[in-house]
Order: sequence, then C-alpha cells, then structure tokens
Amino acid sequence: MAVGTDAWGELLELARDLRAELDDHARSAAGLPEGPAPELPPPPPMVSAGGGRGAAARREGGPPAAAPRRPEPRPAPDPASIPGIHPAGLAAAPARPPSPVPHRSPRSAAERGEVLRAIREDLGDCQRCRLASGRTTLVFSDGSPDAKVMFVGEAPGADEDRRGVPFVGAAGQMLTDIIENVLRIPREEVYIANVVKCRPPGNRDPGADEVETCGPFLMRQIEAVEPLILVALGRFAVQTLLRSQAPISRMRGRFHRFGAGISLMPTYHPAYLLRNPADKRLVFEDMVMVRGEYERLTGTTLPPVRSRRGG
Ligand code: SF4
Repeated sequence: MAVGTDAWGELLELARDLRAELDDHARSAAGLPEGPAPELPPPPPMVSAGGGRGAAARREGGPPAAAPRRPEPRPAPDPASIPGIHPAGLAAAPARPPSPVPHRSPRSAAERGEVLRAIREDLGDCQRCRLASGRTTLVFSDGSPDAKVMFVGEAPGADEDRRGVPFVGAAGQMLTDIIENVLRIPREEVYIANVVKCRPPGNRDPGADEVETCGPFLMRQIEAVEPLILVALGRFAVQTLLRSQAPISRMRGRFHRFGAGISLMPTYHPAYLLRNPADKRLVFEDMVMVRGEYERLTGTTLPPVRSRRGG
C-alpha cells in the first residue's frame, strides 16, 4: 500500500522520538553523563506497515543495515597502576635524579693522587722506548687527579719538552681558552695528558711500537682519574683511543663510548686550529656538547659560555 508524503513525515518524526528515548535509556543504564549523545548515523527510514527494515534496505539498493553498537563503558584507570605515575599524583612525584655514574669508584682525590704518583714513580727515568733519547723532560700530566673531564693529546711538543708540562705555548693557551671560556671549568680542575710522554724528534707522529710501550701508562692514568668525559685532541689521540682509522672529521661531533662507560668526544688538536682557524667553530660545537654531557652526568649547571670580549 502506498504511503502519502505527510504520513512519511509523521512516521519519520515518530522514529526520531523513539530513537532519542531509546538513547536516553541506554545512556542512563551505562552511567554516561547527561547531555546530547555523540553523533550517530541516522536511523534507517521507516516504511509502511508490513514493509519492515528489509524493504527499506531493498529500496536503498543494499542489504539490511546493522544497528550501531555503543562501546562498553570502562572504569577510569587507577593512576597508581600506570607505570611512571607516582601513587600520590604527578605533582608529588620526585624529580628524576641525574644519571648514575656506574664506572666511577668512590675514591677520594687524595687516593687518586696517590695512584697517579705511583704510576709516575713506575715510569721513573723511563728508557723503555726510542723517544727517551731525544727528550729533555718526561711530560707526565697536568691538572686535578679528581677531574671529571680529561683531555688527551698526542705527544709533548718543544715547549712542553722544555717545561715538563703538557699543553703550554700557543697551542696550550688555546686549549686553556677552550676549557675556561667554553666549558667554564678552571684548567686546574681538568686533567691533561698525552698518549706518549716524551717528545718525538721533529714532532713526528709516535711510532706504533712507542705507543704500544707508553700507551699502558696512559690507560693507568685514565683508570686512576676515572673521568666522566674524555676529550681526545687530534687525529692521533682519537685513533689511538678509539682504535679506529676513521678520519677525525667523521668521528667528531658525537660521543663514543670508552671503557666502562666514559663518554669520549673526539675533536681537533689546538695546534691544528692555529693553522686552520676556520675550524674553531667545529671545536666550539664539540665543546658545547661536552658542556651538556658534563651537566647531564654531574647534575650541575655550568656558567654560560664566555665570549671573546669577556661577556
Ligand atoms: S715515551 Fe713513554 S715509554 Fe717511551 S721513553 Fe718516554 S715515557 Fe718511556
């Protein structure tokens, strides 16, 4: 039987009312809040008596549509059961402590100094390799036995050989500027040493046999100081410490793991920077990363980088 337009309108109105009533019942049974329900697909159009929903679907050209289902309501989660959430709430959660430093033993500065003195005594008037014959002074180290940052260069130069202290002269002054103006740590609070302790003639690279002979003393120095961060200065020190032949340009700019967890930053040697001042920018970037790592590992904040004008 055909249904007139007015009758269709009344039936649709009735269907909407019925739908709204059913929704209200469902909402109150589920414990949902009062208010308009989320937008749902419109109910399928009602048809004349005897037609049923199947007839409506046939008129739309598709199968009978399934009624939409509401999801089952879930109880609110207990914050204490969520990993990382303190039972008393986020505001009461304790601040995260700085990363532990598992590789650093609780030895005092005096104890570290004792170990270093013993290493120096072991070296004595060392004649273990060819470099002994050309040196004026054996250059052991400079700085604090309790340093958190340790710098390692290649070998003493002429100034160092004369004075018995690593990194003096023009390159040494540049290193001091980097330490004190970028890291903002007094030079006497870091530790400085070289891969070999005696000056190679003509400032040549140390030979493999010389590194093999002298290198263990550097390793003992690193073990005594237990720095949090090692800065390897120049290709030779980088390649020796990391046992890699990769060029320094590919190694710098990121930390490498050394030993039991020391962060090692490769960078250019200050003597190289004297010849290539344009690359000071790269060393600055590396030292800014060292600052960040120092602050992260120690849980302290360093003073801001000091500009050349002393700002
Ligand atoms: S370079 Fe090292 S091993 Fe060689 S003589 Fe000097 S201290 Fe001894």
